[in-house]
Amino acid sequence: MAPPHTAAHQGTREQSGHPGRAPSGRRVAVVGGGVSGLSAALRLETLGHEVELLEAADTLGGRFGVARLGDRPVMTGGKNIGRRYSAFRWFTKELGFDRYESFGYNASRLKDGRVLTLDSERRGRTLGNIRRMGSTRDVARLAAMAARITFDDTNRFLGSRHFSGVSARHDHAPLSSFFGPELTSMLIRPMVIRNNGAEPDEVYPGTFGTNLAMLLDHYDQLTDGVEPVLDAFAKRIPVRLGARVESVETTAGAVTGLRVSEDGGPARLVPYDGVVVATPAHAAAGILRSTLPALALRLADVRYFPSTVVLVEYDRPMFGEDVRALAMDDGPCSNAGSYGMHDRHIVRYTYSGREGRLTDLSERAVDRLTADTEERLRTHLGAPHAERVNVLVKHWDAAYSGYLPHHPQFLAEARRHLAGVAGLELAGDYVLGVAIENCARSGRAAARRLATHLEGAAARPGGAASDARDPA
Ligand SMILES: Cc1cc2nc3c(=O)[nH]c(=O)nc-3n(C[C@H](O)[C@H](O)[C@H](O)COP(=O)(O)OP(=O)(O)OC[C@H]3O[C@@H](n4cnc5c(N)ncnc54)[C@H](O)[C@@H]3O)c2cc1C
Repeated sequence: MAPPHTAAHQGTREQSGHPGRAPSGRRVAVVGGGVSGLSAALRLETLGHEVELLEAADTLGGRFGVARLGDRPVMTGGKNIGRRYSAFRWFTKELGFDRYESFGYNASRLKDGRVLTLDSERRGRTLGNIRRMGSTRDVARLAAMAARITFDDTNRFLGSRHFSGVSARHDHAPLSSFFGPELTSMLIRPMVIRNNGAEPDEVYPGTFGTNLAMLLDHYDQLTDGVEPVLDAFAKRIPVRLGARVESVETTAGAVTGLRVSEDGGPARLVPYDGVVVATPAHAAAGILRSTLPALALRLADVRYFPSTVVLVEYDRPMFGEDVRALAMDDGPCSNAGSYGMHDRHIVRYTYSGREGRLTDLSERAVDRLTADTEERLRTHLGAPHAERVNVLVKHWDAAYSGYLPHHPQFLAEARRHLAGVAGLELAGDYVLGVAIENCARSGRAAARRLATHLEGAAARPGGAASDARDPA
């Protein structure tokens, strides 16, 4: 097998391993170069293991969606970092990056021609606006759930004790039946479209804690974007790009290696003492098909929804300071928002949800859709007639996970299957939730479990709540 690549976002150190720890002599692989895998690999390295990260694409970052708008590096995927994202902030700090700038949570809805703004900087006004969005019963139900999340951090993650109970009682019907129609259309729908790319009738109450948690945080973004962080990662940990993992090899119930195809070549066996598979569930299903076929079938069921993001740079700001994003439910564009608090001349148009599942991504079609949304921004928010300077289109067939009904049961089942293969762990957006923090924690928790196994202790996990509690 060729040595790891050495271009940007790629690299080797002569010897991996955290400076403070003696190398363990155990060689481990992390599959997937998104935030879940990056966090797992860095954690394993700080625990003293020789780690290699294998990524099928030709760049790191996965659904951060690193790209260029004109000359400017941009993120077309996940970019907003909550104040409560401690595991992700540990990850960037460990690599020398802890400069964040405020982004806030700013989303507005139109009701009877009036713009209702939800803004994390203005809690009082936001609460008042939420009260106007639904019946007293629904708002009280939402407030009770929000209190659970505020007072018990584990409820922000899939499989928490409280939301497992909600799942057991209510997942026989989708989220659209849980709240009344007014709150569902005004608040719940924009939340699940934004976080899952799904409609309220495509997700279930037992996973709603992960959505509500997003509303209760305050957001920043990395001042210089994620690219410098990825470069620093690749200088520290060996990365193999263009390395597609086909399967996990085992002998007598323990991991012995991976079958890897590099740059489209034939698959070869590469020996490893342990593996974290940190890909979306549909990719993990393919990788585990021959090792754990029953688990692979369940993983293949986990639902994912598409999304298209169009970034447009204008010659002047399109939003004011007060309203920086508008959620829409009467057309394919589900959200139009400024790229940053101070980058209001760049607009990110997101197409998610049933009407936003675009099939025609031709320049003409995108141009027509953008012009239509620009017109709405002018009508509703008084946006100017600005000239487009640069346009970038990014489409994901499987942008966000929408999980499964009775997802906590699925997670428990997955842990039982995994217990049959020593040295194999899973991380990813379907383990604790899609938010960057949830992915980072799933990676760190998988790394910790694998390290415990390699160190020879009786090692199986304590379950989702202990994963979620993994402190930075
Ligand atoms: C448009 C968009 C906006 C978002 N905005 C936010 C936000 O503002 N804040 C937030 O908290 N979250 C946000 N999210 C969610 C968050 O960005 C994602 O859930 C998260 O980045 C997923 O990370 P991951 O590592 O689990 O998966 P990925 O990033 O998908 O990484 C998995 C990697 O595995 C690789 N891979 C797959 N199969 C194989 C194989 N067989 N062999 C080797 N490699 C393989 C893939 O190429 C990929 O790079 C957003 C998501 C999207 C799509």
